Amino acid sequence: MLQKRFGKIVRKHFPEASDTRDTSIKYLGLLQNGHTIDISKMLMATSLCSDDINIPSTSFFRVVLGPFFLGGLGGLPFAGTTGLTAFAHHIPDNGSAFIFYGPHIGVTLEDELGKMYRPRQEKSGACCGALMLALKRFKEDPNYKPKIINSDYQQMWLEECLLPKREEIVNDPNPERAITEACFWKIDELIHEYLHATKNEFKVEKIALLGGIIINTDYGVDDYFDPRNFEVISTRNL
Ligand SMILES: [Zn+2]
Repeated sequence: MLQKRFGKIVRKHFPEASDTRDTSIKYLGLLQNGHTIDISKMLMATSLCSDDINIPSTSFFRVVLGPFFLGGLGGLPFAGTTGLTAFAHHIPDNGSAFIFYGPHIGVTLEDELGKMYRPRQEKSGACCGALMLALKRFKEDPNYKPKIINSDYQQMWLEECLLPKREEIVNDPNPERAITEACFWKIDELIHEYLHATKNEFKVEKIALLGGIIINTDYGVDDYFDPRNFEVISTRNL
């Protein structure tokens, strides 16, 4: 019942979104049958936000090995080329690589996007907290410039990456969704860039990528996933 009500609200904002179960069945099926990948020898890396609410999201693909965590605040692949190289070296013999990546956004039954009710909390709060904080700063000060400092490096770099899209984001009728979308494309760009830079480290033939936006619902209700990119890259073509 609750799942159905969430489904309606989620699809209003993300018409292509499917719940956890449908997503995992669809993509694991495509990898195994469509691309003849032995998923028992597939190692997964994730580039998702550090937020504890995303831990169940990795259960989208509970049956595969991993995950190797590439992500930090917002879901940007902060582990960089060193992280990706380590991941490449951990893949089983004759196995394959799978990278699941993207930002996340909460939704409530009151149809608030960018918020969610966290387990055992009475009031709704920001989700993704890092992206909603960046949005707040972008809205408050048109001349806002993040200062890269060691103690808050991830948030500052996330804001730096999104700053070129500031105008577009704050003027969008749905800025919470717009900043999430912008963040997705930045993660996608960086994953491709880092993969290209580390291509010689992969001793496998195929690297599967699945990127999109995770939509967090209430505790105990399945999350949703709205795909943006699904591809299987041959390492020879990188
Ligand atoms: Zn987050």
